[in-house]
This record gives sequence, C-alpha cells and structure tokens, in this order.
Amino acid sequence: MHTLFEPGAPTEPGMISLLTPEFSGNEWVYVKSCLDSGWLSSVGNFVERFEREFAAYVGTKFAVATASGTAALHIALLVAGVRPDDEVLVPTLTFIAPANAVRYVDAWPVFMDVDADYWQMDMNKIADFLKHECVSDKCMLRNKLTGRRISTVLPVHILGHPVDMQPLRELCEKYGLSIVEDASEALAARYRDRYVGSIGELGCFSFNGNKIITTGGGGMIVTNDSAKAERARYLTTQAKDDPFRYVHNEIGFNYRLTNLQAAVGCAQLECLTKFVERKRSIAAELNEGLDDIPGLRLPQEAPWASSSFWLYTVLLDAALGWNLDTVISKLHHDGIQSRPLWQPMHLSKAHSGCQSYFCSTSEALVRSALSLPSSVGLGGDQIAYISERLSSYADHKTDDPKWRVGFLKNSFLTEC
Ligand SMILES: *Cc1c(COP(=O)(O)O)cnc(C)c1O
Repeated sequence: MHTLFEPGAPTEPGMISLLTPEFSGNEWVYVKSCLDSGWLSSVGNFVERFEREFAAYVGTKFAVATASGTAALHIALLVAGVRPDDEVLVPTLTFIAPANAVRYVDAWPVFMDVDADYWQMDMNKIADFLKHECVSDKCMLRNKLTGRRISTVLPVHILGHPVDMQPLRELCEKYGLSIVEDASEALAARYRDRYVGSIGELGCFSFNGNKIITTGGGGMIVTNDSAKAERARYLTTQAKDDPFRYVHNEIGFNYRLTNLQAAVGCAQLECLTKFVERKRSIAAELNEGLDDIPGLRLPQEAPWASSSFWLYTVLLDAALGWNLDTVISKLHHDGIQSRPLWQPMHLSKAHSGCQSYFCSTSEALVRSALSLPSSVGLGGDQIAYISERLSSYADHKTDDPKWRVGFLKNSFLTEC
C-alpha cells in the first residue's frame, strides 16, 4: 500500500499540493528596496508600513507585527491579562499553537467542542459550561472543578470560516471574560460586516508559509486599544525602557517581525483581496465538481459569514463506506496531496491532564474530515482532475476491500 503523506514533507514533483504560496506581486521589488536600504531587522519602513496597512485592512486602530502567529498569541494572552493558573477556553479542534500559547503564560486551556455545521467553537456548549460548571466568586468566574479563575476565551476561526462572535461577545460581557481571537487561518474572512480578528479585545494572525498571505514566518496582533498595542510592542521588543542605556524593567521577548519579512508582507497584502476572491471561487468550483458524489459533505458557509476558505475540507459520510486513510493514499497515488484535520487537543499527549467539556462532535468530525488542495494558484484543470478522481473512487469502491470503514484504524484518534 502507498504510504500516507508525511506531514511537513515537501510535495513530490508533479503533485498538486495542499497550499503553496503565490508570489506574483511586488515581492522582489520590495525585498530589493529593503536590502538596498540596509535596514533588515525590526526597525525599518516596511515594518511600520505593513502594520499600518494591515490595521487599515482588517479595520482596527493598531497592529503590532510579530515573529510568528504563535508569538502573537503568546503576547496577546499576556496583554489580555491572563495570569498564571488562570483558565482559557480553547476549541479542541484546532492547530495546536493557541493551546500551547496558553501554557506559555502558565495558564490552562479548557477544551471546548465545535458545532457540527461550521466546525467552529460551539456557543451553546460554552454557555452551558459557564452556567453549570462555573461559579461567580468575588467578582471573578471560577471553574467549580478546578477552583481556577476563568479569564479569557480564545476562539479560533478554523479553516477560514468565522466563529459565531455575537453570542460569544454577549457571554463574555455577562461573565466578565476577555476575548483573544486566533484569526490565523481566516484573514479577510468576515463575521457579519466585520473582519475576523477585529472583534475581540485582541486578534492574532499568522504569515506562515501556508497561510493566506505569507512572510515566510511572521504574525500580527491587532487591537483598538492604544495601551494594549503599546504593551504588545514593548513586550515583543525585549521590554526596553531605555534603549540607549539598555534599561529593562521587565522580562520581554525578541518577537518582532524583521523589515525583510515585512517587505514581503507589504507585497502580499496588496494581493490579499485577489487571493481571497480566488479562494472563494476555488471552493465554489470544488463544490460544483464534488456535488454529485453521494455521502460527501461539502463545507457549509453560515448565513452570517463570509469565509476565506483557507483550506477546503469535506466530510466523508460513514454511510459512504469510505475509509479516510485509504482515500488519502489513493489521492496521493494520483498525485493529489490531502490530509486529515488535527488530532483534537483533548486527545493530545501534549495537553493531557487538561479539562475538556463534551467534545464528541470534534471527534466525529476528525474521523471523516478530508482537506483538499486549496492554493490560490490552483487551476481549473486541476480542480476538474481532483473532482474526477474522487468521483472515480466512488464508482469503484465496492470492488476493493480496502474501502471498508475500519479497515485501517485512525491511529491518531485512539491516543488518550
Ligand atoms: C498557523 C496557525 C498558528 C501559528 O502560526 P505560526 O505563524 O506558525 O506560529 C496559530 N493558530 C492557528 C489556528 C494556525 O493555523
């Protein structure tokens, strides 16, 4: 049998990869101008310009560029006032970075489930948790089980689709919690008339190589609060109180984005609207191509949402009888990279011992979710090929015993 793709391994030549960056704008021009200026590190025109233009795009007053999305989350949690031994509500179905960031500040994630329609943090379960599992005590909310203070909710807009923010804001106002958004996968997605990342106290973004725009590595914190923006800037630049005499009154971090990376960022940002339009049209074209495969569930977009369709993901209905690992191998064999979603955080050894709250929907989703190529540069012929291949497996599935559900076990779901 063909081996499954290895996470992080470069795609073989000729493969249609999941996500490849697109550099067709002013990247070379700006990088050259940056090199010519001699300002390569974190002081320089491109960093300021990238921050200014990024804030203008997402609709916040301030933006602070960071070395990565993970660094942005780390600092945003500190700035939001998360203290050691606090608890932060995090969706269990996410890339691991936001859960890790909670541990970096010595706080604890409590893993919450996602909803079955849009696969985002489930507001009904959050409301139940806050109502039944927590208690107000001396102006703060405590988890009855652990006795710890709940201070913050960290919604993650996964795969490009927004979280339902209005009910979350109402709950957070009611219980006195702050919101730090992880919008790493959903740049330029909108919740009603607002861009995600601009709705909570602080929002975080990533410019890793596979994200909607990239600087190689990088991130951004956005906020409308000038004091929070100042604090983020201070903590990301080694907490310098007197940069001439090297006076530091606190322990800071070397977390700033470099000018060279920001030069790439400025060029990418100019293409963002075009990139997202293309992502949305790729999703529409894939929807059309895959529509008549019975038992394949296409991604849904909520009526209040405009998704950026960062990574196009379908569900293989159990009734279809397709085994996820086998489909991934078949696609690989046919030159198409695909992958399952992340191991849910409440099953991850990295976060064993953390509390979780009824995460059965996430577990079911991960058993059947399949992410397909979604690069901005994906052509119509490639989309047609992907659709044609998947349809052909549907036609032949009964001939091959490997298609039976459970023939291979989803090993990454069994760790506990
Ligand atoms: C990519 C990603 C991050 C981390 O970003 P880096 O820039 O790689 O540190 C954080 N959260 C989510 C949801 C992501 O997808």
